[in-house]
Amino acid sequence: MLTVRNLHKRFGSHEVIKGVDMDVHEGEVVVIIGPSGSGKSTFIRCLNSLEAPTSGTVVIGDGAAVDADDRKALARLREEVGMVFQDYTLFPHLSVMANMCLAPVKLKRASKTQAQDTALAMLDKVGLRHKAHSFPSELSGGQQQRVAIVRALAMKPKLLLFDEPTSALDPETVGDVLNVMKDLAAEGMTMIVVTHEMGFAREVADRVVFFDGGQIVEMGPPAQIFSAPRQPRTQAFLHSVLH
Ligand code: ADP
Ligand code: MG
Repeated sequence: MLTVRNLHKRFGSHEVIKGVDMDVHEGEVVVIIGPSGSGKSTFIRCLNSLEAPTSGTVVIGDGAAVDADDRKALARLREEVGMVFQDYTLFPHLSVMANMCLAPVKLKRASKTQAQDTALAMLDKVGLRHKAHSFPSELSGGQQQRVAIVRALAMKPKLLLFDEPTSALDPETVGDVLNVMKDLAAEGMTMIVVTHEMGFAREVADRVVFFDGGQIVEMGPPAQIFSAPRQPRTQAFLHSVLH
């Protein structure tokens, strides 16, 4: 589903991603953990071309590597790879329903009626059908984030990226968002999730990637990473976050 080869990203003279290789298979859930500033956000932003890699390749599905100058290919990539950010990013001046229908209708994926039917069904699944005509400011952070997730799903992405989706939420709403993500994983959605929620990583991830200094230090099944990390840097990080 995703092939990343020798990915580098530099901001001026500051090299933030230093040669990352990663393969993600269909239906896999990969959780990325690591210290702040280690390049996790930059890395996943490179996966849907919110950032253009300095060098290296990102291939989605059996497509071709996307050239940063090819606007059509970039647009296609962004449709195939959904993203959910830390600060939900719903359009504040649009109702929940309008937020959900905007992209599918604009990109002619669905008629307005079809898009509305789909939106209602998806909102129903995450317990928010009754909020369809509310504005984002009338929702809690957790509710907004659940809308952001189903809004991304409305484009039927092949891959869904999450960048610390629960970090900005009040603690009591984190669980609802994680539950939606667990359901998605159980349904077979291919997901890459940057998070500090170690319980979620343990329970839901097929693979955990420890990222530090713009590189993958170690990756493996959650049981191995959490119980028997091999690298000293992974051990030190887990010690600091789990104790
Ligand atoms: P993380 O998500 O792991 O906290 P980031 O990917 O946000 O890390 O940042 C990694 C490094 O890249 C940081 O030192 C950050 O300051 C730098 N960085 C991120 N985005 C930019 C940018 N647009 N311009 C310059 N430096 C950036
Ligand atoms: Mg980040």
